[in-house]
Amino acid sequence: MLNERDDLYLAYAAGLLPPAPSLVIASHAALNGEARKEIGDYEAIAGALLEEMAPSEVAEDLRGSVMQKLDLDTPETVTVSEGDPRLPGPLRGYVGARLEDLRWRRLLPGLRDCVLPIGGGGIVRLLSVRGGAKVPAHTHPGLEMTLVLRGSYSDDTGCYGLGDLQLADDELDHSPVPDPEAGCLCLLVTHRGPIRLTGRYMRVLNAFMRH
Ligand code: ZN
Repeated sequence: MLNERDDLYLAYAAGLLPPAPSLVIASHAALNGEARKEIGDYEAIAGALLEEMAPSEVAEDLRGSVMQKLDLDTPETVTVSEGDPRLPGPLRGYVGARLEDLRWRRLLPGLRDCVLPIGGGGIVRLLSVRGGAKVPAHTHPGLEMTLVLRGSYSDDTGCYGLGDLQLADDELDHSPVPDPEAGCLCLLVTHRGPIRLTGRYMRVLNAFMRH
């Protein structure tokens, strides 16, 4: 199970998350200094873990993926010229256009979404909620990751603002209320069941997983 924040951070740091949740964590890190620091610590752990292991135990592709992460995945250095400058760097290239030029689908009054074609590990959507709009109460068939890109919302568990990430699963039944003035724009990944790691070397990380 990868429904815990720390597990997601560690799996991301090791380069083992599928593309959809990986994009959410990368965007979260770009917007949120605290998360960036925690993920940085996990990258150091993943790196040190590989250093300690005998070379034969460490598959080259896993080592490669971690090293690549360490080299390339510093969100501040991501520069993407295309897309909407209001979006965090890791997300900008995937969206590729200004927010108002996207094909939004109207779901309910004040609620629109736009599915982003990112394969692997769940369905990725931008969800825009106008201030004062009602979001229906819902539960979740699997993991739902919600990253706030603009505005804020709150539910029984707290208030979520710019760069905050909420993880929800089938145990949470909630009715998010958007900021009455600003509403909110969120990046959402929904996945049926737990997210599974993509690498063949998940066992390497098992010692660090809290399950
Ligand atoms: Zn939800």
